[in-house]
Amino acid sequence: MKILVTAKRVEDPESKIKVKADGSGIVQEGLKYKINPFDEIAVEEALRLSAKHGGEVVVASIGTKDVQEQLRHALAMGAVDTLLISEGLRKKRVTIKCPQCNWQGQLTVDKEEDARCPACPTVTPTIESSADFVDALYDDAEKVGTRVELLSVDSEEGETLMKAFGGIAAILRYGIGGQ
Ligand SMILES: [Zn+2]
Repeated sequence: MKILVTAKRVEDPESKIKVKADGSGIVQEGLKYKINPFDEIAVEEALRLSAKHGGEVVVASIGTKDVQEQLRHALAMGAVDTLLISEGLRKKRVTIKCPQCNWQGQLTVDKEEDARCPACPTVTPTIESSADFVDALYDDAEKVGTRVELLSVDSEEGETLMKAFGGIAAILRYGIGGQ
């Protein structure tokens, strides 16, 4: 049996949501995101079902940025058995330090030059380290013993993955008995 669970990120229920002064949306700076708690319950239930009846749980999400966060969360939980990444995904994971407010942190950007301190967007930050995003995901995956599969964008699956999921999809696999 194959169980498909869709997951999406939401604002952390613990965080304070502020509406922008012009009413066009919410202030996203400094806001934390989590996997939708109801989606997490769905994943747990799917795991329970697969443990009872055997089979595999597939978690899918759409939206590049969202998927990255959820993948990292899933990786941290040690849950992802197979991670599919499209070769078409060319992003950088950079660690920057802001010379103005001393903020230091890790960001995922298209180009190193795009990295900016969340508080000081006009200041050019110091880049302390930079890694290919795909390599960084490999490192994360390795830490929790996750198998990583790289699909070529030239392949049909790779092309579909790139178009449908913005380049990344995670497949969580739980065999009978697990490991
Ligand atoms: Zn700053």
